[in-house]
Amino acid sequence: LAYYFKQIKDNEHLNAFNEVFFYSAEVQAKAVQQKIEEGAAGKLAGMVIGIKDNICYKDHIVTASSKMLDGFVSPYSSTVVQRLLQEDALIIGRLNCDEFAMGGSNETSYFGPVGNAVNSDLVPGGSSGGSAVAVQADMCLASLGTDTGGSVRQPAAFCGQIGLKPTYGRISRYGVIAYASSFDQVGPITSSVEDAALLLQVLAGADENDSTVSPLEVPDYSANLNQSKKQKIAVLKETIESEALDPEIKTAILKSIEDLKAQGHTVEYVSFDLLDYLVPAYYILTTAEASSNLSRYDGVHYGHRNTEAKSLTELYKLSRAEGFGEEVKRRILLGTFVLSAGYYDAYYQKAQQVRRLIRDKLDVLFEDYDLILSPVAPTPPFKIGDNLQDPLVMYMADIFTVLPSLSGNPAIALPLGNNKDGLPLSIQFIAKHFEEEQLLAFSQAFL
Ligand code: GLN
Repeated sequence: LAYYFKQIKDNEHLNAFNEVFFYSAEVQAKAVQQKIEEGAAGKLAGMVIGIKDNICYKDHIVTASSKMLDGFVSPYSSTVVQRLLQEDALIIGRLNCDEFAMGGSNETSYFGPVGNAVNSDLVPGGSSGGSAVAVQADMCLASLGTDTGGSVRQPAAFCGQIGLKPTYGRISRYGVIAYASSFDQVGPITSSVEDAALLLQVLAGADENDSTVSPLEVPDYSANLNQSKKQKIAVLKETIESEALDPEIKTAILKSIEDLKAQGHTVEYVSFDLLDYLVPAYYILTTAEASSNLSRYDGVHYGHRNTEAKSLTELYKLSRAEGFGEEVKRRILLGTFVLSAGYYDAYYQKAQQVRRLIRDKLDVLFEDYDLILSPVAPTPPFKIGDNLQDPLVMYMADIFTVLPSLSGNPAIALPLGNNKDGLPLSIQFIAKHFEEEQLLAFSQAFL
């Protein structure tokens, strides 16, 4: 712990932590030490983990990096935190993120942007930017993020780390502040595939508090890490040929494809003609769900409350106007609009149909292939402030990550070295539903 506390101090300027749990982490460390001496320690004994600040931990503040929840103390622990603690991990603090996990650069946080450890003028990606930087700068061994449309994979990619979004329904969302409930999944950000496997092992599996979690048995991901088979891999042609894709990322991915072939994997280009529909469908569905999920922040139940309101309606209005940031408001408005009578069929229902088409299309692809290969992000990390003025530019940057979010498939971002400016490059692999075991084993062999 002392080592990580020092790392956190030395990297304070990166703004990765919203709070360091000095006291509770120490208390826990003592208890775990004792268990180790008694030979009764859990699977994660002593593993120092940071959690994204939208994951509830009993008696600790949780804010989702929003003024709306500033100072809000969680009365209970999320299932993922309970499982970490049960296996004797040490939770070192809560990590900065985009407000309510809405963003791809960690710039919408009420607590300010996070700097990339490669160059603090650059974004770390988002929304789990703090989670990625904390691992990148060795401020904790591993971290948890949440991934709705790329928020674990893309920041991991921008920081040269490994980011895993499990299958929708693999990990409980109980106690995780909701953004878009039919997309949200907790995922680990780690510097090794071993750590990702170990964490998934502990976090995955049925939970009586979240009925969307699958009752499927959890395989021993760590035991089978070295069992990678030769894979049949589909490369989504349109993603590699996309004009938005940075040339250096493209070159690195093309080289990787050659390497994979040389290693005996089958790699084939396939056409995916729904690429243009991904971002629109994703933003219609997620903003719709967000507008509903965020209706609970009314100035009464949680967090921020305006003190001058003269009526209940005014209290709602003023509290929400003051508590939410600009991006969150934009999404609530968009979501309310697409759900409103008269527009519902044209937007929300249409987007649901597109989601079904996308999922069916992937299922067909997965009849012939084990994995799908694509980029993670179209560009390397950009400068803080550069994309902030244009929400559409920011949304379009999610084009490659939202595909498995719409379909629910598991996906991993793996580092692919650096570009000529020393910025991390990355590649994404998507697997069949609940095939994390093969995905992790493949990743282990790939790196
Ligand atoms: N950038 C995407 C968005 O803003 C993804 C966010 C996420 O996965 N939480 O919605």
